[in-house]
Amino acid sequence: MKSSQFFISTLKEAPADAEIVSHKLMLRAGFIKRLGAGIYNYMPMGLRVIRKVEAIIREEMNRAGAVELLMPVVQPAELWQETGRFDKMGPELLRVKDRHERDFIIQPTSEEVVTDIARQELRSYKQLPKNFYHIQTKFRDERRPRFGVMRGREFTMKDAYSFDRDVASAGKSYDTMYAAYCAVFDRLGLQYRAVAADTGAIGGDRSHEFQVIAETGEDAIVYCPTSSYAANIELAESVPLIAQRVAPAQGLEKTPTPGKSTCEDVAALLNLPLQRTVKSLVLATEERNEAGDITKVTVWLLLVRGDHALNEVKAGKLVGLKGGYRFATVAEIEEHFGCKPGYLGPIGLKKPVKVIADRTVANMSDFVCGANEADFHFTGVNWGRDLPEPDEVADIRNAQAGDPSPDGQGVLAIQRGIEVGHVFYLGTKYSKAMNATFLDEGGKPQFFEMGCYGIGVTRILGAAIEQSHDERGIVWPDSIAPFTVVICPIGYDRSAEVKAAADQLHDQLQAQGVDVMLDDRGERPGAMFADWELIGVPHRVVLSDRGLKEGTVEYQGRRDAAATKVAVAEVLAHLQ
Ligand code: ATP
Ligand code: MG
Ligand code: MG
Ligand code: MG
Repeated sequence: MKSSQFFISTLKEAPADAEIVSHKLMLRAGFIKRLGAGIYNYMPMGLRVIRKVEAIIREEMNRAGAVELLMPVVQPAELWQETGRFDKMGPELLRVKDRHERDFIIQPTSEEVVTDIARQELRSYKQLPKNFYHIQTKFRDERRPRFGVMRGREFTMKDAYSFDRDVASAGKSYDTMYAAYCAVFDRLGLQYRAVAADTGAIGGDRSHEFQVIAETGEDAIVYCPTSSYAANIELAESVPLIAQRVAPAQGLEKTPTPGKSTCEDVAALLNLPLQRTVKSLVLATEERNEAGDITKVTVWLLLVRGDHALNEVKAGKLVGLKGGYRFATVAEIEEHFGCKPGYLGPIGLKKPVKVIADRTVANMSDFVCGANEADFHFTGVNWGRDLPEPDEVADIRNAQAGDPSPDGQGVLAIQRGIEVGHVFYLGTKYSKAMNATFLDEGGKPQFFEMGCYGIGVTRILGAAIEQSHDERGIVWPDSIAPFTVVICPIGYDRSAEVKAAADQLHDQLQAQGVDVMLDDRGERPGAMFADWELIGVPHRVVLSDRGLKEGTVEYQGRRDAAATKVAVAEVLAHLQ
C-alpha cells in the first residue's frame, strides 16, 4: 500500500472534548471522526485496526466451534415483547417505528432473535450443542457516552449465543468460550484479568468479565495476587449480599395489614417513618412449626445495583415499587433466581463470601418488612442485629488494598479495568420466555440451556491504546497495528535510487504477506516520522541516498530509543 492511494489525516492537537489519552490519540491519528454524541465514523486507518481485531476474534470463535451468521440491526419489537425486554429495558434501548407505525428496536444485543432462530431450527438434541455468533453493529442509548469508542452509543460487538441440552453441557460451552476469550485477548496483546461478575437476575456463579487493566477504566476490580480470587467491585453491590437472620424473639412482630402490600402502605398505616434505600430489595422468609407458629424468620437483603436487577425492580416484577417495597413471593423468587429463597446466598461468586450490607442499611432499625403472606407484614426488623463475626466478613465494596481476600488465600489488591468482554450463563431465561424447545431422546420437549458471550470490538481499540502509548503516540501490538511496517524513503520524489529501493522493498514485503505501507507523500522526514509514530506502526524502515550508498537502511522499532543500521540485503530477515 502506498500513502498516496490511502487516506492519512493527522492532527497536532486533539479536540478539547477528548478527555482520555486513547480518545485523544484516536482523533489525532485520524482513526475516528465524531458525527454525534457517541457516534463515530471509523476512518480508513481505524477501520484497518477494527478489521484485524475482528479477524482474530473470528478465528478464535471458529476454532472454538462457534458458527458465524448475521442478525439484523433493526429487529421487530414483537420478539422483544415476548421476553418483556421491550418494556423493561428502559431508555438505553432505541425504539423506532416504521411507516406503518410498527415498533422496531435497534439491537443492543441479540438474545431474542437468536432464540427465535433456535426454536425454529434446532429441533432435536442431536443438533446440540450449537453456538451462533455474529460481529454486528449495536446501539445503546447510553446515558453518558464518552471516551470515544470506549463508551459509544453505536459500536461493534461480537456476540455469541450457545444452546445446550442440559446444565452440564452448557457449563462446557461456557468453559470453551472462556478459553477462547483468553486466546483472543492474548493474541490482541492486552494485559487483562478475568473477574467474577454480576449475574443479575439470573443467578449462579457463571459470569465473568474480561477487564483490561488501565487507570482510566470505569470499573474497579478486586483480586488476590496469591490466589484465583478476582471480582468486579460492582459485584458486591449487585448480587444478593447477605442474609441477616432476625429471630422473632428479637422484637420482630408479624402484623396484620389487610389489603396493604407495600411498605409505604404499611408505614402509613402504622404511622412509622419509612426508611429505605432505593437500591435495596428485601426478602423475608419464614419457618413454621407444626402448629403453624413462626419459629424462624430470615430476612434477606439484596442490594440491586446491576442493570438487570434494577430493571426487574422498575418493571415491578419483584417489588411493587412506588417508593415502598413489597416482598417477592416464594414462587416469584424461585422463578427469578432459580432457587428457593432459603438458598439466596451470595450468588455470582465461586466461593461464598459473607458481606455486610451497606452501612446505612445495617444501621437501620424498626424496618418494616413483608411476610411472604398476603395482608401481613413484619415490623421492628433491625438490621443491626446478629451481624456475623468480623472475621467472617469481607465488605467488598469498601474493600481496601491489603484487606484479607474473601477466599482466605491472601490479601486483596485493587485495580481499575475496562470491560472488553463478558461471558454469561443464561440458563433457560430466554428459552422459557420464548418457549424455545428441542426434543430430547425420549421425544419430549426441553428448554434450551443458553449462554451469551460478548466482546466489545471497537472498545478494544481504546483499551489497547490506554495500555500502550507514549508521548509520541500509539504503540500498537503487531497483531492489530493498521500497518505492520512503514517504509519512509527520504527523497522518494527526487532520487531514482531511493525510489527503486523503496519500491522493491515494498513489493517484496507485500509478496510475503506483510502489511506494509510506503510513505510516498514526499513529506519532510520529521513530519513523516511524527505521523507514523502517532499512528503507532510498530516497525519503520528509513531509506536514504546516503544509507543506500553504504548498502544500509535504518530500522527502528516503535519502542526503540534510536534507529539501527541494517544491511539492505538483511532487511527482510530483520523484519521477520
Ligand atoms: P458496561 O458495563 O461497560 O456498560 P455492559 O456490561 O453493559 O458494558 P455487555 O452487555 O456485557 O456490556 O456487552 C458486551 C461487551 O460490549 C462489553 O463487555 C463491552 O466490551 C462492550 N460494550 C458494552 N457497551 C458498550 C459501549 N457503550 N460502547 C462500546 N462497547 C461497549
Ligand atoms: Mg452497559
Ligand atoms: Mg458491565
Ligand atoms: Mg457486561
